[in-house]
Amino acid sequence: MKLHILGTAASEGFPALFCRCEHCLKARQLGGKNIRTRTSAIIDDTIKIDFPPDTLHHVLCDALDLSKIEHLLFTHTHHDHFYPEDLNMRLPGYAHGVKYPLHIHGNDAALAKCSQTLKKQNEHVKLHLLKPFQTHQIGDALVTPLLADHNQIETCLLFHIKKGNTSLLYGHDTGWFPDETWIWLENTKVDIALLDCTNGNLQEYRNHMNVNAVIETKNRLQQSNVLSDQSKVYVTHFSHNIGLLHEDLIQIFQPHDIEVAYDGLIIKT
Ligand SMILES: [Zn+2]
Ligand SMILES: [Zn+2]
Ligand SMILES: [Zn+2]
Repeated sequence: MKLHILGTAASEGFPALFCRCEHCLKARQLGGKNIRTRTSAIIDDTIKIDFPPDTLHHVLCDALDLSKIEHLLFTHTHHDHFYPEDLNMRLPGYAHGVKYPLHIHGNDAALAKCSQTLKKQNEHVKLHLLKPFQTHQIGDALVTPLLADHNQIETCLLFHIKKGNTSLLYGHDTGWFPDETWIWLENTKVDIALLDCTNGNLQEYRNHMNVNAVIETKNRLQQSNVLSDQSKVYVTHFSHNIGLLHEDLIQIFQPHDIEVAYDGLIIKT
């Protein structure tokens, strides 16, 4: 599996769009891995997870060919993951030389908004409803949406994605996993886990995880043999409010054998 991480910030970006706090000023000055955009990832060039407002930026900076994307999966409809207006650029008149249909998979809120926003559909876009804990064949991957603890009025999802010999846990934006998700996970294997660390050293771990919740999650997955000795755990989706630069995050997570994701990171198995 080739997992291309396109964005690693929380909804405001890092440095945040309009912010002049000392951490955002420092990130602007340092650049490099301290520049974080809104989140998305691509699996083997063909399956994309989430479609943030920074997508054109990702296409330009990472030299992406989005025409190869056959399936688009949505975790939830917060704007940093979900900007369906730009999906109109995938339709005739704006996109030449692309294959149809584009398959869009998501919860009912995501599909309803896509249906409302996309100007043409039928043969160009197919909408597929994802139900938690049901395994769906998507291209040559097996995708099981799991429940997150993120927004009490939306069925927010994280994904277990098995493709070839590799299983990915895409954990964005999750909070501490609900019991049903733990029970499902404890019967499976994960080679790459990407975990939400929006809250950094803040106390809160509901809606979004913090450092301690990430470490506890990794330990519990290891104790249940979901993670093997070869498995890799990455943290992502950082808010400027935590005041941690890339190097600070590395210092926190290195002793726990957890890697800090950054924009443009490519993970290969
Ligand atoms: Zn988010
Ligand atoms: Zn700031
Ligand atoms: Zn969210």
